[in-house]
Amino acid sequence: MLSLDSEIQYLRGIGPRRSQLFAKLGIKIVEDFLTFFPAQYQDRTKITSIRDIYKKLQGCIFVKVGKSCERQLSQGLSVLDIEIFDDTSMTYARFFRKNNPYSNIDVFATIRKAFEVGKFAYIYGDAKLERSGRFISVNDYEIVHNKVDKPLLFNKIIPVYSATEGLNQKFIRETVKTIVESSCMLYPDISNLIPRFHNIPALQSSIAIQKIHYPNTLEDAENARRSFALQEFFVLECALSLSRNNLTKNPKIQKYEIRRTLLPTFKNNLKFEFTRDQKKAINDIFADMQNIYPMNRMLMGDVGSGKTVVALSAVLLAVENGYQTMIVAPTEILAEQHYLTMSNMLEDLDVKIVLATSSTLKKKSEREKILAGFAKGDIKIAVGTHALIEDRVKFKNLSLIIVDEQHRFGVMQKFAALDKAKSPDILMMTATPIPRALAMTVYGEMDMTTITQLPPGRTPVKTYSSNEQVAYTDTIKELKNGNQAYVVYPLIDESDKLALKSAVDESEKLSQTWFKDFKVGLLHGKMQPSEKNKIMRNFKNKEFNVLIATTVIEVGIDVPDATIMIIQHAERFGLSALHQLRGRIGRSSKQSYVYLIGSFNNEAAQKRLSIMTSTSNGFKIAEEDLKMRGPGELMGTAQHGFPKFKAGDLIKDADIIEFTKNHASEIVGNDPNLSKNENIVLKNLISKYFLHKTNLINVG
Ligand code: ADP
Ligand code: MG
Repeated sequence: MLSLDSEIQYLRGIGPRRSQLFAKLGIKIVEDFLTFFPAQYQDRTKITSIRDIYKKLQGCIFVKVGKSCERQLSQGLSVLDIEIFDDTSMTYARFFRKNNPYSNIDVFATIRKAFEVGKFAYIYGDAKLERSGRFISVNDYEIVHNKVDKPLLFNKIIPVYSATEGLNQKFIRETVKTIVESSCMLYPDISNLIPRFHNIPALQSSIAIQKIHYPNTLEDAENARRSFALQEFFVLECALSLSRNNLTKNPKIQKYEIRRTLLPTFKNNLKFEFTRDQKKAINDIFADMQNIYPMNRMLMGDVGSGKTVVALSAVLLAVENGYQTMIVAPTEILAEQHYLTMSNMLEDLDVKIVLATSSTLKKKSEREKILAGFAKGDIKIAVGTHALIEDRVKFKNLSLIIVDEQHRFGVMQKFAALDKAKSPDILMMTATPIPRALAMTVYGEMDMTTITQLPPGRTPVKTYSSNEQVAYTDTIKELKNGNQAYVVYPLIDESDKLALKSAVDESEKLSQTWFKDFKVGLLHGKMQPSEKNKIMRNFKNKEFNVLIATTVIEVGIDVPDATIMIIQHAERFGLSALHQLRGRIGRSSKQSYVYLIGSFNNEAAQKRLSIMTSTSNGFKIAEEDLKMRGPGELMGTAQHGFPKFKAGDLIKDADIIEFTKNHASEIVGNDPNLSKNENIVLKNLISKYFLHKTNLINVG
């Protein structure tokens, strides 16, 4: 008996060799075939005339077959021209085949046999108007014996699948068809659980699958896709909803009261007022902390939006109540910077804060002192790196963990499971804004607060597309005013065949030419972390004026006097990367500038350039990036265990995601373990697709 999990190599007509090829397309079991949805469609519903196909350049024609004639086009390439006619005109159908001059196999045998003079042919192809004459380059055809015979492959929409060497379109199409017809009924269906949404019909999954593969119209195909997406996102949102419930199920031990011992002094010491978004973020966080369940919140805000003071407010609420807190950053330099900023802000307060990185923990005496301080509870705030996560680090009463630049930790680290505290409150922060629909799926297990507003008085960075002459001349003006500059390259050495300018070579050149009157530093990815750290620190301390770097310049690093950045080969960077780089400057009230240098000669590069020069809004940029590159590229799919959708589309289906999220929390609210009969199929789907990712359901 065939089941969804049957391996395809045992299916008739596939076998071990072909199953390996299908594996390249991600198809291993029967189910994969059902959801191996077409990459695109060919609209063969309209049959046009020979006369008109030369106007449209592509399409279907119905013709009578005439004589054929073969010739050698070049060494190894032959063409077969077949005369074809309809009421409007006569032309040639052309086939190309590679041939081997030393063999006498007739490469056109099948075609010649099919195209018998006097028969009729449906042809899908490209109409070519070349100097040597006009012809139809044949993409697909079907021969019929007389005019009234109904074709199988024409007068309809035909699916086009991703193919791979060794598996042609025709074979894939036929295999998918056989399997969809025999097995689509096996696909689990939850359409009965989902109410109608807008104009999307809630199709049974087997019907949606059939319609996606074999739609009657392109509109049908899109409707069926949306319908399947509705089920996909619904399962995901139910999984996330269960996971959220599970996380919040165990009440925490820690309790916080607003005691007004530290917070008011901290606030008075600040030289600014909180922005509206910062206040809202602090309110959200304080409410979470005072809730009986642990906080699990993501704070998302563009670079420079002021997340640090928000985090510090949370820290102080915990400290006011006698607890310890830990702030983890992805790199030493960021940890160090947080430590310095925070120690400055806490100057008048009697709160002990310590920097714990592999450097500060290196010396035995120092390490023992710090670890003892954590264990005894005298050190209230631990700022550090991965070093803080190690087993030897023990706290007396840690209650709050803050993770800065969460995305840099790669795999979603389970900070809650760290065993440093029983049920800690967790606040994640990220400076990589992403569109709402994407955030809701990627960070779906967390509550979310977004800071969209930058603090007042910021002068937006001006971004230009430029040439070296202008960029370096302007940079020198800035340097003479005591400001600092970054020059960024995509590569570190010349080993790349494209021979792009590399940071290493160019730093030498630049320090002898344009920047000969200034001090130039170099920073690249192959350096040891401690060396990178030293160079960043020296740059911050103004020991040099220009920093030549690859993209390793740290996210979040604060060098207020860096007011200019030149990005070389800017066409090689993605939008989000450019935006993150730009975030390294414009960190004071001074006007800052970015010069993008590169050859923006393709459409995508042009588009990126125009977006970068026209907006500095990180959310807008992320949305454009998502449209241009898709969520996998944007988020680093593998890293986040980001689910791949079969039919769902994070841009087109943002409305579906919102809808399913609300409906999912309702269902899960009414049946927290999904144990009711009507939810069994749903529960199975969740275990199948998401159980490995999170411990969602109390199985049993
Ligand atoms: P990020 O969100 O990138 O971590 P930071 O917390 O480093 O941003 O803040 C960037 C800069 O803005 C810091 O110098 C900080 O002191 C300043 N800042 C934060 N909030 C405000 C505010 N409300 N008004 C003025 N400046 C602020
Ligand atoms: Mg920051």
